[in-house]
Amino acid sequence: MNVTPVVASAADAEQTQSRPTIGVLALQGDVREHVAALERCGAEPVLVRRATELAAVDALILPGGESTAISKLLGAFELLEPLRARLREGMPAFGSCAGMILLASEVLDTRPDAEHLSGIDMTVRRNAFGRQVDSFETDLSFAGLTDGPVRAVFIRAPWVERAGPDVEVLATVADGPAAGRIVAVRQGNVLATSFHPEVTGDLRVHRLFVDLVLAA
Ligand code: GLN
Repeated sequence: MNVTPVVASAADAEQTQSRPTIGVLALQGDVREHVAALERCGAEPVLVRRATELAAVDALILPGGESTAISKLLGAFELLEPLRARLREGMPAFGSCAGMILLASEVLDTRPDAEHLSGIDMTVRRNAFGRQVDSFETDLSFAGLTDGPVRAVFIRAPWVERAGPDVEVLATVADGPAAGRIVAVRQGNVLATSFHPEVTGDLRVHRLFVDLVLAA
């Protein structure tokens, strides 16, 4: 019975391979919730506030929060161009809510000086759900997640008003006043949701992202 060392080293190798370093942009917003979700998925979360930290991660999560504030801070921390460059080079990224807005190629109803990153060819409308459904929860069927609907929490959320030809729509609102609106998309290695999977304890969207990072 001399197999223990072999098994252990194979497990170690697999462990390193399956533990990608994923940055969470930590300028403003619900950073902690994403860090906790990544930890529970077996990834190695790292806070990103500087270009040197960005350069060291395999992928990046842009959290929910306030997109115009994050945009301003991206400028102040000199992260805008490094982040655009990494996205152009194919770094996997996931944005929830404000993060989705930042990943858009065009943003409606934002401040004229707000910057965005063009990680996904899409037009996003900020604060899109009317006052009546300003913040709400609903169940969504999410492409690729077959084991039941995703509970989606929307907080002054955006929706995707135009998805480019290379953008895969992963989820739309099923009913109510916003029925049919696009709320989750993917283009290549970049994923975005209008809602906040980081607050529900359902790890499937984060797992999907970690899998995408591992495959990249
Ligand atoms: N309304 C916010 C914005 O414009 C997004 C809200 C959120 O991230 N929960 O940035």
